[in-house]
Amino acid sequence: MSMHFLFVHIAPHPWMKTYTGYLEGIGILAATLRRRGHEPSLLVLHEFDREKIKKAMKKHKPDMAGLSITSSQMPLARKTSDALANGHGLPLVAGGAHPTLMPEEVLELPGMVGVFRGECDHVFADWVDEFSAGKTARGVQNFSYLEAGSVVNNPVGFPEDLSALPIPDRAIFPMREMISFNADLVGAEFVASRGCPYSCAYCNNPIFNELRGGVHHRRKSVERMLEEIEAVLSEYPEARCLGFNDDIFTCDRDWVMQFCGEYPGRVDRPWWSNTQVAHLDDELVGAMAEAGCTRLHMGVETGSEKLRRDELNKQISNKQIEEAFEMVHSHNMKPVAFMMLGIPGETEETLRESVEFLRKLRPFWTVVSLFSPFPGTALGDRARAEGLCDDDLPEDYYHLRPLKLRGVEEEALLWYYNNFNDLVRHRRGILP
Ligand code: SF4
Repeated sequence: MSMHFLFVHIAPHPWMKTYTGYLEGIGILAATLRRRGHEPSLLVLHEFDREKIKKAMKKHKPDMAGLSITSSQMPLARKTSDALANGHGLPLVAGGAHPTLMPEEVLELPGMVGVFRGECDHVFADWVDEFSAGKTARGVQNFSYLEAGSVVNNPVGFPEDLSALPIPDRAIFPMREMISFNADLVGAEFVASRGCPYSCAYCNNPIFNELRGGVHHRRKSVERMLEEIEAVLSEYPEARCLGFNDDIFTCDRDWVMQFCGEYPGRVDRPWWSNTQVAHLDDELVGAMAEAGCTRLHMGVETGSEKLRRDELNKQISNKQIEEAFEMVHSHNMKPVAFMMLGIPGETEETLRESVEFLRKLRPFWTVVSLFSPFPGTALGDRARAEGLCDDDLPEDYYHLRPLKLRGVEEEALLWYYNNFNDLVRHRRGILP
């Protein structure tokens, strides 16, 4: 039986972030459902909005809804699931980082039939087929559910061949609006690969690796990636650039070299990607620049090598970072730094170190965030155990709370957070 399935994507306001809000996971799941004759639709919520939910219900008349939830979205997901299940009688499922890390918490949400852990692109449509045929659908891989008050976690698998997945259904997103918001800087977003070999203590990637039984770095074939880009640009020619939201786009050096060899003959747009400094070398960066890559985003997180190594478990040195930024500058590309302030062990001294270090790196721009102790991550759990934060999560993205740190007052930390880019770029000499 065909099912109308409403995906609910709780995303920050476009002005909050450097990405459009496109989510590859939802795009692929929507495409797999459409292949099976189901009817997917999408509701994007930037905050809890009862009226918007009501309008989506009227417009799409869904039989069921699925929420994509990260840890910081959990309070909003709670209100949204209450409105969908108790207000409109919809059965719900959920997937994403938080259901993967904390299935028992998400299964308690109103209307929740079950949750999917890890990557579920390969089994989700099977589950919807079974559920829409009136079956319990409890035997499907990656599915977790409650039975007699206990959580049952089915074994977790993952799609091994990304090229075999359908091209994401971007039509369910407000793509034109998303692309036009930042057409020159972000443009159309893609994902070429999955899997990261690192175990940063604040990130959920180590848990995904554990669930998969290893890193399992996978990538779409170069041909499949180029076909997808061509298809998207013919549909959305207004995208003046494009980018890759992979964890580490340059993880597979041979793949990137082949891609760079073929891209210029097929696509005429500048592009950007996320990477990690240990996965760059001069020849590779040169090939990327030749192929039209104009910007590389890299996680620096802090200027304190000690905090980066000991607290974040990010085993890259300041020297490696400096060399990578220099390499990117030397090929006339723009390096972007991701920074995270307020990590356990932060002091006014380490905040000053971060500013000084970034001044040396000369990033094109810096994306600054406050450390969030996501439950289930090694550092999030430790911060909680040490009483550095409350158990509950902030209400939403707009009310993030810093840790209670011994080495720096909250007011000083927030001052650095609010002024970080200015301190790095314009206001030399005013560090307290
Ligand atoms: S390199 Fe990035 S994706 Fe990989 S574990 Fe670290 S933060 Fe997570």
